[in-house]
Amino acid sequence: MPPVFRFAPSPNGYLHLGHAYSALLNFERARESGGRFLLRIEDIDPTRCRPDYEQAIYEDLAWLGIAWEQPVRRQSQHIAEYQAALQRLQAMGLVYPSFESRAEIARLVAQRDADGAWPRDPDGAPLYPGAATTLSVVRRAELMAAGAPYALRLDMASATARAGRLTWDESGAGPSGVTGTVEARPEAWGDVILARKETPTSYHLSVVVDDALQGVTEVVRGQDLFHATSVHRLLQALLDLPAPAYRHHQLIRDAEGHKLSKSTQATGLRTLRATGVSPAEIRHRIGLV
Ligand code: GLU
Repeated sequence: MPPVFRFAPSPNGYLHLGHAYSALLNFERARESGGRFLLRIEDIDPTRCRPDYEQAIYEDLAWLGIAWEQPVRRQSQHIAEYQAALQRLQAMGLVYPSFESRAEIARLVAQRDADGAWPRDPDGAPLYPGAATTLSVVRRAELMAAGAPYALRLDMASATARAGRLTWDESGAGPSGVTGTVEARPEAWGDVILARKETPTSYHLSVVVDDALQGVTEVVRGQDLFHATSVHRLLQALLDLPAPAYRHHQLIRDAEGHKLSKSTQATGLRTLRATGVSPAEIRHRIGLV
């Protein structure tokens, strides 16, 4: 079976040099290995994703000389599949609803911090500090029936106990230079959100469902997603999905060493193209010759 690669941008802004690097790396590795290259549009968040950004993704990638298989999988069209996966986790008793607002969570975190530093996840966000696991079944049903906003969370302690020790095969270099067999540490993320009332799935859930469904064997993506792989391995194990091999590549940074942002014009592919920069110059700028 040929290896299967994918590039999976979210249409919530214009692509920048970092996306060009990731997309070209995937595309070229697929070509060199006689593999397949897929493009996936990760548009589960209707408040941030826009059709014109999606259109721009197609234009910018084609301009770079990248070709992908059709049809393109657009996550917004597959919500039922993510819900089916969520229901399997629910049936295992691994999911619970929490009802605190963002403000309430911030208040609880401040309280926990005052008692001693409350743990942060690998992205620097505080772990879920609430006590929603202790709500009675009746109370949960009442709040849901009253239309209260909620987040469905993974009960991390039960999930990791069920899945046992997990590793992944890393051929890139993680933030601390680790490569080879990497030990997954999903507990570092606490009770992650798998779905919300208004968005019935999440990045973590849709990405593992899709990678499996599309037969992705090689995940090549930025180092900023290195630690998220721990959660992905856990969900794959719980849902009996195969584990792809991972390669987390270095991030392209601006002159000050900051991560690129979709909102910065200067490093946006469209802006560069409009100012006469060629695809060959883009490759040169990101260190691909
Ligand atoms: N959609 C994610 C992003 O734009 C990438 C997901 C992935 O490669 O796993 O950052």
